[in-house]
Amino acid sequence: MVSDVLHIIAFEPLGTTGLERLADALQEALGLKPALPGSLPVPGASLDRRRAQYRSRGLLAALASWRSSRGEAGLVLGVTDRDIFIPGLSFIFGEADRENGVAVVSTARLAAEGEEEGQLEEERLLKEAVHELGHLQGLDHCRDSACIMFYSNSIGHTDAKGPGFCSSCEGERRPDRVGP
Ligand SMILES: [Zn+2]
Ligand SMILES: [Zn+2]
Repeated sequence: MVSDVLHIIAFEPLGTTGLERLADALQEALGLKPALPGSLPVPGASLDRRRAQYRSRGLLAALASWRSSRGEAGLVLGVTDRDIFIPGLSFIFGEADRENGVAVVSTARLAAEGEEEGQLEEERLLKEAVHELGHLQGLDHCRDSACIMFYSNSIGHTDAKGPGFCSSCEGERRPDRVGP
């Protein structure tokens, strides 16, 4: 099924209303048509009590099953305020599951301080979302530290890069990438 729809789903307690500006920015950055179909609970089983963090795989699985239960085409992006991780890393900003066409990003580590904090946090969220959606459009990590596909494991890296793709990534990107 060919679709250029991007479903943006909030993990509660986030609401979708706060995501409208992210949706507009992603439409501009990626040429996808955003839809805000609602919110989902964070799967309780994804909580690692010892770490007080959530396994991102659990959130990705919830997004994949949302899509299959609805029979939706297109890509799916989940946004959570929970701190997420994958085994072996202390935390992650986001993760993409290419096989299922779903990705998740977390706002937990994007907090900024100072006058421009709201704007900076929005910019960081946009960058993390574009990065994960870039993976869903077929891109791997890029060595160009100014490119949005540069791997970031610190907020300093995130602030230093993007939000755009380098010309090589832009050329390889498949904007018509379809859902599974
Ligand atoms: Zn990545
Ligand atoms: Zn690149």
